[in-house]
Amino acid sequence: MPEQQRQRPFISIVAPFYNESEALGRFFEVMGPVLAGVECRGYEIVCVNDGSRDDSLAKLIAVSNMDTHVRVVDLSRNFGKEAALTAGIDAARGDVVIPIDSDLQDPPGLIEVMLEEWAKGADVVLAKRADRSSDGYLKRRTAELFYRVHNHLSDIDIPENVGDYRLMDRTVVDALKQLPERRRFMKGLFAWVGFNTVTVEYVREARVAGQSKFSGWKLWNFAIEGITSFSTAPLRVTTYVGLVISLAAFAFALYIILRTLIHGVDWPGYSSLIVVILFMGGVQLISIGLVGEYVGRIYMESKQRPIYIVRRVYERKQDA
Ligand code: UDP
Ligand code: MG
Repeated sequence: MPEQQRQRPFISIVAPFYNESEALGRFFEVMGPVLAGVECRGYEIVCVNDGSRDDSLAKLIAVSNMDTHVRVVDLSRNFGKEAALTAGIDAARGDVVIPIDSDLQDPPGLIEVMLEEWAKGADVVLAKRADRSSDGYLKRRTAELFYRVHNHLSDIDIPENVGDYRLMDRTVVDALKQLPERRRFMKGLFAWVGFNTVTVEYVREARVAGQSKFSGWKLWNFAIEGITSFSTAPLRVTTYVGLVISLAAFAFALYIILRTLIHGVDWPGYSSLIVVILFMGGVQLISIGLVGEYVGRIYMESKQRPIYIVRRVYERKQDA
């Protein structure tokens, strides 16, 4: 939206729900007054039900029957948070779009501050976690390590401690929709599109209810996803590792030849041989695994499957 017209936007909130029955009521209780309080032309809350197995969907439908602002996009199964967010962003009609976690870990109170920054001209307003003490020590450290490794390896930098909670102008959303990849690492895609970005800080709250859907193993895979989505550096690293090892092996061969010439043939050496063979085997397997990771991505992308499937959209039409 041109900067002169940046007042009274139509706001789209996008919230993914996966087994959030316990947190759901509270979410609308908090969100309603916040949105009622901001200066806007109107707003919608796009709730994506990501194949919840509890009664989240029933509760969401009930809310949408009461409140014309609430639209429910029901996916046909659990597609994961990234796909759910994509579904919600695709369905959003606002001048500004704000993805937010439905467990209230992202404080809705920040929306007003984000809108102020947007009105001043920012296309993207990032919400940065100033304090992650609500996450465990291990999660904080590993997150830190992930950002460091990722930003070192890939061409685009993901801002540290920034989640999916942010405000995006319509132009940014349209740019995002042009990215065709199936396997979506949203943080990376958000960063890739660029635009005029401003950061505001907040303190990450603890979940209001329920448990985190991301286990350590899931997060580990998520990190690999992120790195392989935006960087081919690991492929190059294997080349270097192979080179170094080959050179070392070559030097060792020279040494053995010289030693044999000087001291004659001797029998021992079985253990050193085994070590070298095992080590080389290991390095080769790791390299093949790495190449496989990328080949797998090519395979997945080449199938051109949709990112998500919508079963049904629930919304109450505005009473005339
Ligand atoms: N979520 C989702 N699909 C999933 C997993 C999570 O839509 O497969 C949603 C979940 O309902 C929540 C948000 O993504 O609104 C963040 O999930 P969670 O709170 O479990 O992650 P954490 O905050 O622990 O990183
Ligand atoms: Mg959470």
